[in-house]
Amino acid sequence: MAKKHLVLVGAGHAHLETLLALPRFIEAGFRVSVLNPFQHQYYSGMGPGLLSGTYTPGEVRFDVGAMSLAGGAEFIEERAVRVLPESRRIVTASGREIDYDVASFNIGSEVGGRTVDGSFERVVAVKPVRNLYTARCRIEEEAAGSGEYPLAVIGGGAAGVEIAAALARLGRGARGIRVSLASRGTILGAFPPRVRRKALKKLASLGVRVLEESPVTGNTGGELFLASGQAIPFRWAFDATGTRPPGLFRDSGLTVGAEGGLLVDTDLKNPQYPELFGGGDCVDFAPRPLPKVGVYAVRQNPVLRDNLLASLEGTPLKSFSPQRSHLLILNMGDGTGIWYRRPVMFAGPAAFRFKDRIDRAFMRRYQEPA
Ligand SMILES: Cc1cc2nc3c(=O)[nH]c(=O)nc-3n(C[C@H](O)[C@H](O)[C@H](O)COP(=O)(O)OP(=O)(O)OC[C@H]3O[C@@H](n4cnc5c(N)ncnc54)[C@H](O)[C@@H]3O)c2cc1C
Repeated sequence: MAKKHLVLVGAGHAHLETLLALPRFIEAGFRVSVLNPFQHQYYSGMGPGLLSGTYTPGEVRFDVGAMSLAGGAEFIEERAVRVLPESRRIVTASGREIDYDVASFNIGSEVGGRTVDGSFERVVAVKPVRNLYTARCRIEEEAAGSGEYPLAVIGGGAAGVEIAAALARLGRGARGIRVSLASRGTILGAFPPRVRRKALKKLASLGVRVLEESPVTGNTGGELFLASGQAIPFRWAFDATGTRPPGLFRDSGLTVGAEGGLLVDTDLKNPQYPELFGGGDCVDFAPRPLPKVGVYAVRQNPVLRDNLLASLEGTPLKSFSPQRSHLLILNMGDGTGIWYRRPVMFAGPAAFRFKDRIDRAFMRRYQEPA
């Protein structure tokens, strides 16, 4: 009899424990394939630090290709473009069709393009995180020895604030880098005013020009236009205007939640097709919407790993119960951070050191086996 086949679509943060546990799946008599468009997966929590030059690419990425092969799975360096749930097949960008008995999706979310035309070459979406490194290299090359070198960030959420701070850090010293941040409303509008005030003060001290209540209405490729009529020149603009779900699920006719992600119940399985599972930004958790932050993807890991094995074996599934609130530490680029978990906030070097320690410990867990 053919071995049952598990397909992991996307090697994101919620699949990392399953990747570590691959030998258990293989020893239990199952076949596993991992489908991901790149051999490396970048850890988003360290993305701004990668942009600022605090981290090297090697410090912030996992070799998910090597992890897959070392665990006994097949690694397919491709993107899924369609799911055919009735015939249990996944279609890749090259047209290959992969049969599955159980499949799990962890393909993240898409960023950008909401308020600004991203078709211009010099508008960078802040995800995938690999974009940030490409942009850093280009900026380092171009800004060296040049005069004025304006950079713009669009979006005043946590990602936009971190990116602006990282760019200010990248531009420290003699370069003519000037950073502007345009936010539709106030920056960090989802956070208490004291967090926002702290971030504004820090950004001002880093030389970042913050324009609040300033929706971007146009883009010429070298200038952003604001609703106020003001123009912001840029050599590179970073689009941090929020996340949207990938089109894969809707295009495949799968049940999606209110935010457009694959609908999953407390077992992290799709109610319509219980052989489909998912975690991270790409799912809508049926009991309540979860913030699109990596913390939830990371916490889903053990439940997803155990439920994928249980589903193949036909044994009972476990429930995921998300935490009510989560810790956020903003990396402010200069070795300081803003630490916030309702209702506590503090800022300074200790906040960044704490974040750096957590992030490095997370990296070690998944980098060393590869
Ligand atoms: C600048 C920035 C900083 C952030 N900082 C933090 C932070 O400090 N803490 C925090 O909790 N959250 C942070 N976030 C949010 C965080 O990025 C996301 O919540 C997190 O990446 C979600 O993880 P994921 O595993 O769902 O998706 P991802 O990390 O995006 O992983 C998805 C994987 O799937 C692959 N993939 C995509 N499409 C397909 C496809 N069609 N077929 C196959 N594979 C595919 C991708 O290549 C990728 O490897 C930050 C976000 C940004 C933009």
